Amino acid sequence: MIYTQANAIKQEPMKVVLVAVQFLVLLVLFGCESTRHSQRCDVSIRQSDETIIIGNLIKDTSGSEYGAILIRDSRIVDIGETKDIKSKAPDASVFDCSSSYISPGLINPHEHPDWSGGFPDPMTRPVYSHRDQWRGVAGPEYYKVKFERVEEDVQKFWIELRHLLSGTTTLAGSGGIAGLVKNAGYSEEDKSRYFYPADMETFPYGFSATEELMDFSCPLAATDSRDPEVDSPAGTCYVPHIAEGTNCTAEIEGKFYLDYVSKNPGRRYSLIHGVGLSRSDVERLKGLDVTLIWSPRSNVALYGSTVDIPNALRAGARVAISTDWSYSGSYNLLEEFRCAEHIDNAKWDDHLSGGDYWRMATEHGAYSLSVENLTGKLEQGFAADIMIFRRRTNDPFADLLSSQVSDVIATFVDGELLSGYSGSFDLSKLPAQCSHHIGQHFICVDYARDYSFSHEELLSSNKEAVPLFSPDRQANCE
Ligand SMILES: [Zn+2]
Repeated sequence: MIYTQANAIKQEPMKVVLVAVQFLVLLVLFGCESTRHSQRCDVSIRQSDETIIIGNLIKDTSGSEYGAILIRDSRIVDIGETKDIKSKAPDASVFDCSSSYISPGLINPHEHPDWSGGFPDPMTRPVYSHRDQWRGVAGPEYYKVKFERVEEDVQKFWIELRHLLSGTTTLAGSGGIAGLVKNAGYSEEDKSRYFYPADMETFPYGFSATEELMDFSCPLAATDSRDPEVDSPAGTCYVPHIAEGTNCTAEIEGKFYLDYVSKNPGRRYSLIHGVGLSRSDVERLKGLDVTLIWSPRSNVALYGSTVDIPNALRAGARVAISTDWSYSGSYNLLEEFRCAEHIDNAKWDDHLSGGDYWRMATEHGAYSLSVENLTGKLEQGFAADIMIFRRRTNDPFADLLSSQVSDVIATFVDGELLSGYSGSFDLSKLPAQCSHHIGQHFICVDYARDYSFSHEELLSSNKEAVPLFSPDRQANCE
C-alpha cells in the first residue's frame, strides 16, 4: 500500500493537528522573514538644516526607548517624544525608522586603515609570543606573515567603507582617507589631517621592542625603567600598541608603559592589546585611568590567547573593543563582537553580555580616544553619529550581536546619511548623492567634488580586496 499523507491524516487524527501546527509555524517564520525584509524607514527630505530620526533609541545598556532625535548643524540638539520633537521642528527632514533600533555610531579605536585591504596569510598560525616574531624582526626562526600596504585613495576608501557599512562612524589608526568615517590619528606634518587627534603609536618601544628591551629580564627589578617614544604634544591622547604577545618582552612593555603613565599625567592614555600584561599590571589600569583596547580575533589568531577580560572588568578596568587589521583581525566590529562572544562562551562561561559589547564599542571606545563628550552617545550636544539597525526582538543588544552588514539599515556621520541598506528605503526619496549602489547597499558620495576617482573605479579597483559584506577568509577566532 502506498502510504500517503492523506491516508495518514485519515488514520491518525492527531496528525491533522500536527500538520496544522507545522503550517502555522511555517507561516510565522515566513511572516518574520517578510518583516525582516520590509523593515523600512520612511523618508521625507525637505529644504531644511534640521533632521529628525525616529525609532527605538538606545541611550544606555538598559534597552531602548521609542522616541525621536532632532539634529541641527551636525549635532543632536534635542531628544524626546516624537510628537514634541516634530512640533519643535515642523519643517525638518524626517527619517521615520520606527521599527528599527537607533544606536550611537560604533567607534573602532584600533585599525590600520592603510594596512587592512588584504586577506590573512593562510600560513598564519597562533604560534607567536610577541608581534616582533610574525613581523620578521625577532629572528629568522619565526615565519614572517605576509601583509601589504595599500597606496591608493581608492583602496583606502574601500577599507573605510567596509567599516561604515557595518555602522562604524569613528575609526582610529594612522592613515586612511578624509571623509566617510571620522578618522582619529595624529600627524606631525599635517595637524588638521585627522578629525579627532589621537597619537596611535604602533611602535612605542621602537621598531623592535625585542631588541630595545633586551637588557631587561623577567621578573623586573624595582628600579628597571624605560620610557616609550612619545612624539605628540601633551594633551593629545596616547593610544599605543603595548604588550602585544605573551612573552617577557610583552610583560616588560606593559609594566614600563604603566610606569610612564603614572609619572606623566596630563593626557588621556589607552593601551592597545595588553595580552602580556601581568595580573598586577591589569589591576593598575583602573587607578591610572588607562582604557584597555581589546582585539580578541587578532590576539587569538596570532598568539592563541587573549586578555582575561572578566578579570580586567573585575579589577575595574574600562575596556573598548576593536578590529585591528584585516590580516589577523575581524573585517568589521560586528564580526569582532561575534568573535568576542565565542571566546566568552568557550572560556568565561558567558560572562559578557551584548550590552557590554555595545558599551565597549560606543561609550568606552569614545573614552579611549578622549572624545567621550563629543560622540558615542545619543545625547544633546553630541555629534549626530548614528547607526540604525534591524530590530528582530525586544533585546537590542542580542540583535546587535547577530547583525550582519545587511542588518545595518543606515549610517549617519555628523547628521549626514552616508550609507544604508537599499531594501529599507524608497530610493527615489533619498538625496541625489545616495544613488551609488554596491550590492544591496547605497552610499551617499559626491565623487566629483570630494575624490579623485569615480564609483566605477571604486568597484573595479577593489576586486582583490577584502569584501565589504562577506566575513569569508577572516582570521581564526578559535
Ligand atoms: Zn594593530
